[in-house]
Parts: sequence; C-alpha cells; structure tokens
Amino acid sequence: MLSKAANQVCRLQRIRAAASVSTRQASTIADGFLGAIGNTPLIKLQNISAETGCNVYGKAEFMNPGGSVKDRAALGLLQAAEAAGQLKAGGTIVEGTAGNTGIGLAHCAAARGYKCVIYMPDTQSSEKMDLLRMLGADVRPVPAVPLDDPMNYNHQAKRFAESLDNAVWTNQFDNTANRDAHFATTGPEIWEQTQGKIDAFTCATGTGGTLAGVAQYLKVQNEGVRIFLADPPGSVLHSFVQRGVLEREGSSITEGIGQGRITENLKDAQIDDSVRIEDPRTVAMMFRLLKDEGLFLGASTCLNVVAARDVAAKLGPGHTVVTVLCDGAGRYASRLFSKSWLQSKELFDAVPEDCKHLVSLR
Ligand code: PMP
Repeated sequence: MLSKAANQVCRLQRIRAAASVSTRQASTIADGFLGAIGNTPLIKLQNISAETGCNVYGKAEFMNPGGSVKDRAALGLLQAAEAAGQLKAGGTIVEGTAGNTGIGLAHCAAARGYKCVIYMPDTQSSEKMDLLRMLGADVRPVPAVPLDDPMNYNHQAKRFAESLDNAVWTNQFDNTANRDAHFATTGPEIWEQTQGKIDAFTCATGTGGTLAGVAQYLKVQNEGVRIFLADPPGSVLHSFVQRGVLEREGSSITEGIGQGRITENLKDAQIDDSVRIEDPRTVAMMFRLLKDEGLFLGASTCLNVVAARDVAAKLGPGHTVVTVLCDGAGRYASRLFSKSWLQSKELFDAVPEDCKHLVSLR
C-alpha cells in the first residue's frame, strides 16, 4: 500500500508522461517586475523546421512581463540612468517610442516609483496607446514627421526632459545601454539554450539594439555564426548592408521596425548579410503561425520568421537558425484582423484561404 504522498508522486509522473511535451522548470523567484524580465523560452517552430530540414527557433520575447522584447531595453536604459545618477526618487522618464519601449518603461517606472512621459508617432496602433495610458504613462501622440524635423517625436521627448528637473530622456535609438542589455542577456541565453549549436541569427531592427547586442555576443563565442539583418520595405538598412548606400523604397505595415539611418546602437554591428521581406509574406506568415503553430504574434515577428525561413533555405538542411518573437498580435488586432484595413493596404489577398474566416473584425 503506497502512502498518500507516494501516490501523488506517481500521479504526477503519469500526468507528465502522458503529456508529450516536457515541463519547463520554473527556476527561481523573480524579484518584482524588473526581475521577471528575460530568461524567455526558445521555441522550436515545428512546421518551418520540418519544411526547411533545419532547426528554426524563435526566442519568445512576447513572454516578457511587459509583453515584448523591449522590456529588456527598458530595463537596461533605466539601470544605466540610475547608475549615472540621472534619476532620483520620484523622477521622470521621458522617451520617444513607437510603443513597446514605452510599455516596458511604463511598467518599470511604476515598479520603481517614477513618472513616465511617452512621445509617439500618431500612426501607431490604438491598442498600444491605450495600454500606455492604462499603465499610467502621460502619452503624447505627435504627427509622424522625419527625424530632420524639430517636431519629430524624439526631439520633442529630448526637449521636454531637458525642461524638467530630475528627469531623463532615455534615448533608446542612440543610447548603447539598449544594445548592451541584449549583449548581456539575450545573447547569452540564446547561446546557452542552443548549447552553442547555432549557425545563424536573424531579426529586423528598430533601434538595432536587439540585433547588434545579440550579434556581438554570438560572434564573441563563435565568429562563424552568421548574422542576417531582416528589413521591411521603407527601411534603408538592406541597401546599406548590400551596397553601402542608404536607399529608401516602398513602405510597410510593420510597426516598431525599419530605420532611416545608422543608429549608435547599430554602428559597428557585425552583420554578414541582409534579407528584405515584403508585407504580403509577413501577413501570410502571421496566419500560418497562428493556424499551424498556435502562435499569435505581431507583424515584426512574422517578418522575422519569414527571414529565418529564407536563411534556413539558403543555408540548407541540418542548420540551426534563431530569430526573435518580439510581441503578440493582440497589440495590433484592430488592424491585422480587420478585413477593411487589410484591403485598404492591398493585403487581404495575402491572407491564406484557410485563414480568411479568421479576419472577422469590421
Ligand atoms: N519589433 C517590435 C514590435 C518593436 O516594437 C521593436 C522595437 N521598436 C522591434 C521589433 C525592434 O527592436 P530593436 O529596437 O531592438 O531593434
């Protein structure tokens, strides 16, 4: 006769054996919101791996506590400001952001007792603006104008921070504390999770912090790891990597990625090659990930996964390719799941036939 405790252990073993997936170990207690950032799983994309004969993995950054890859940058920027004595108790964090960095900063600000002011282009999704407001941030949408215009959201953020006492403009584009956060955390996690068996890494860039920081760490471990920049239309980086010129062509529905210049975070980034991904492929991938893999992910992620598939196809079977799953599709649902919005961008035809019924909003 087994004791009650022994019975429960047997039951646990039976349940675990019946579940064909392994149980991830919850390792330690996280120290508040800030301590819960990072240590995200690396997910094998089953269908894309099978299609290419490669291991195609996505770093599940949408599982950060603030819901995106930018939680890591927010923490890095905040810690750098505190270490430099730029922020004292009750101070104000000011940032220009397309959304996710602001969301990460707003969470961190609440957790550390700071105020948070966010300048953002008014072209961004209403979901991101609403969330920022719910998090207590003072959100200031401003017209989307180029960087050489003094009314660009970044310049406005800088000027406002300078007008306050005890405030910092975290300057995610050119403050390399952003890249360093990925060098110190995302890169090492990917290296450990793949046990050093990684042939290529690819992702798109907004500030460039993720790509440059991860690339820097992986190249220190093994110079042979190939780094591919993934770029949407409307960004100048693909032409820069290919031909050394900053050329802009087309536009994209993706948010948070694409760049018109070489930021400080991207300067000296060790990039071997680049791929340009058009929006129809990104949209089609969004629905494939949803239908075939059960993953509900935003457009920048879907572009990353198309890029990872292209890189895997280029390298050939037997290779390991890693990319970044930046955030969830919920932040963009009113656009990406709206038939009229997709039609207005001439992207409804890109939705796979077996997924068209999923586009039901408006
Ligand atoms: N995807 C999304 C959804 C983002 O918000 C961002 C950041 N703007 C990125 C990708 C790019 O990350 P990074 O700034 O590190 O280049």
